[in-house]
Amino acid sequence: MDPLKRLLKLIKDNDVQEIYFRVTDMDGNVKHMTHDVKVIDSDAMTEGFDGSSFPGWKEINESDMVLIPDLTTAQMDPFLSVPTLTIICNVFEPVTGERYNRDPRGIAERAETYSRSTGIADTVYVGAEPEFFVFDDVKYQTDPYNTGFKLDSVELPINGDKSYEEGNLGHRIQTKAGYMSTPPQDSGQEMRSDMSAHIRAMGVTVEKHHHEVAPAQHEISTKFNTLVRSADEVQIFKYCVRNVADRYGKTATFMPKPVIGVNGSGMHVHMSLWNGDKPTFAGDEYAGLSESCLYYIGGIIKHAKAINAFTNPSTNSYKRLVPGYEAPVLLAYSARNRSAACRIPFGSNPKAKRVEVRFPDPAANPYLAFAAIQMAGLDGILNKIDPGPAIDKDLYELPQCEKAKIPTVCGSLSEALESLSNDRAFLTAGGVFDDDFIDNYIKMKMDEVTLLETTPNPVEFQMYYSV
Ligand code: GLN
Ligand code: MG
Ligand code: MG
Ligand code: MG
Repeated sequence: MDPLKRLLKLIKDNDVQEIYFRVTDMDGNVKHMTHDVKVIDSDAMTEGFDGSSFPGWKEINESDMVLIPDLTTAQMDPFLSVPTLTIICNVFEPVTGERYNRDPRGIAERAETYSRSTGIADTVYVGAEPEFFVFDDVKYQTDPYNTGFKLDSVELPINGDKSYEEGNLGHRIQTKAGYMSTPPQDSGQEMRSDMSAHIRAMGVTVEKHHHEVAPAQHEISTKFNTLVRSADEVQIFKYCVRNVADRYGKTATFMPKPVIGVNGSGMHVHMSLWNGDKPTFAGDEYAGLSESCLYYIGGIIKHAKAINAFTNPSTNSYKRLVPGYEAPVLLAYSARNRSAACRIPFGSNPKAKRVEVRFPDPAANPYLAFAAIQMAGLDGILNKIDPGPAIDKDLYELPQCEKAKIPTVCGSLSEALESLSNDRAFLTAGGVFDDDFIDNYIKMKMDEVTLLETTPNPVEFQMYYSV
């Protein structure tokens, strides 16, 4: 259906009163302005806003910017009693009318266009798996820095059960034993179903959900979609998860490593390239992959340290990328191996052939992360970058002499930002990212590195208070 007709029908059928104009900032946060529904009667359905109040965008003297809604994204917001429609917007310069070069969604759109222009793939499919923790609000406040010091190896009291405080450890999830557990150990079952219902109500296909490995950790899986759409859906997903948790008196966090000693939260990114109805990743090479898929992996491994700046964009991200917690450290690929940076999921159906990139985490701005991975993969195909042999062993347990030969992901955000600064040509190909964006991004993120490095950390009190 024509997007405008569909929008008008949604408004009429639901007696819509207000419209959210939504946009994602550089950090990946969703922002919105709420309009009276009458805005759609005006000639130009656009929103002027203050670009200087978004981190890393405009200076105060050039702060006027324009949001133009992408009508195809209109959905009802399921959280409000006042019928409200939400629309994702694109960001434009007011004077020239051009797309703003630092709009993350614009970068993701240019990545899709670039892929088509190379002739390699007209469609890039992305499926993301953001994991998250849900904490009890009250309990959370007793350990505001989430250093984990107060946590035993038991399920956090996400149902607010008083017996926990009194020391009853029955029906609680032990460290590393949460995966696919059932109620009553899994006290989040109903909340996850409720989250899934809200995500579905916003037009995203939910496939399944489960308790994850760590106590109080969860995963809800949604269906793959085209690159920009999939990034839109991650933003809808996070909004629903946070708001449902809030209604249960909980807080959901996508912080990559909120608790010491248990798994962190990843956002694995599954990708496949298609030309027409041909899945280009299926073939006769290792694990049923095509040669071009192996080159795609080669590109991801070659540029992984620079990609980390987008896929793992927080100082906390690097506390997750350590051995022993199902998050990758070594840049290797393998079928079915969850210690590898790139895993080829099991399955013989050529249509389902894909690469799962395991280092990204849910702190990532999905538009930037998906675009960066795709650009690295395409660089691999265009330059025939050999990924080397697959490694099917447990990479955490490799002997030191073998480990030393395999490159690693970055160990810190500052290393990732430096790698991005030195390795950016694959991103600027076709004008997808530009130097202005990259330099500004690095500057913005370096402020986070400096803030953390100059702030006394709670654990330093434990280690050094009595020196
Ligand atoms: N939580 C793990 C990570 O950090 C993944 C665990 C899993 O999905 N089996 O990536
Ligand atoms: Mg999963
Ligand atoms: Mg998982
Ligand atoms: Mg996965």
